[in-house]
Amino acid sequence: MPPESDNGPSAPALPPLREVIAAHGLTATKALGQNFLLDLNLTAKIARAAAPLTGFTVYEVGPGPGGLTRALLAQGADRVVAVERDRRFIAALDHLQAAYPDRLTLVEADALQADEEALLAGAPAKLVANLPYNIATPLLLRWFAKCELFDSLTVMVQREVADRMTAAPGTRAFGRLGVATQWRMQARRLFDLPASAFVPPPKVTSTVVQLIPRPAPLAPARPDLLERVTQAAFGQRRKMLRSALRSLGTDPVPLLAAAGIAPECRAEELSIEAFCALAEALRRQGA
Ligand code: SAM
Repeated sequence: MPPESDNGPSAPALPPLREVIAAHGLTATKALGQNFLLDLNLTAKIARAAAPLTGFTVYEVGPGPGGLTRALLAQGADRVVAVERDRRFIAALDHLQAAYPDRLTLVEADALQADEEALLAGAPAKLVANLPYNIATPLLLRWFAKCELFDSLTVMVQREVADRMTAAPGTRAFGRLGVATQWRMQARRLFDLPASAFVPPPKVTSTVVQLIPRPAPLAPARPDLLERVTQAAFGQRRKMLRSALRSLGTDPVPLLAAAGIAPECRAEELSIEAFCALAEALRRQGA
């Protein structure tokens, strides 16, 4: 059986990923979070986790040598828009571009500054990516703010980031990222991958998380104020909120009273709705 058989029966013949890497002399750059998945069974598993892909444009950040990209195409994505910052990989993906001339759009850009709206051009879209771990959190926060663009987001992140995204109130991992994630998204852990699945192996275990945008946020709040209150509250998470919230520059006691929260509570005890109530109380104070 040829090594690329995971691409599916109708997929075009493609060179093995290790050949692509060797032919282009692609060494991994740590500063760009380059840890590649070369096992096509695993890239196919991630693509399947985001299924169905037919009828969708898939937005991928960091195609690298293209293992996940080819899986997304083989799984039937109408089109893949892949944004890669490292131009060496844009050149190395010419074989994939040639195999899928109408379905693959390679964009050389920094995903933190990409214009997703323009790139997706109103098409129904899913985001699927093995994220560069050094910028995973800013990328996710950026996409939460424009989550209406995506039907779902299926992302590989460090397990510790997955823990924080999916943490429930009252647990140690619950914090700013958990509030920011779950306020707008339903988050579900799908599976872990050991460091040994990547080339080169990262220092940590990885987890695939699936995020489905909620039809509306869990409770009303202005995003900037929700971020301000969670930053203040979790900045001093061991303290009671009547102390921790002093950094907001307003008296925390009436603010907490207006939000219906006991001043002795600590940040990790609050529900996401309670943080929204705090943000709303701050807004009513004219913040
Ligand atoms: N998708 C490939 C795979 O699974 O083997 C590579 C994943 S690797 C973890 C992360 C990829 O993101 C690398 O190809 C890296 O060059 C790219 N990358 C890093 N920073 C980026 C940025 N700011 N914008 C776009 N791509 C970036």
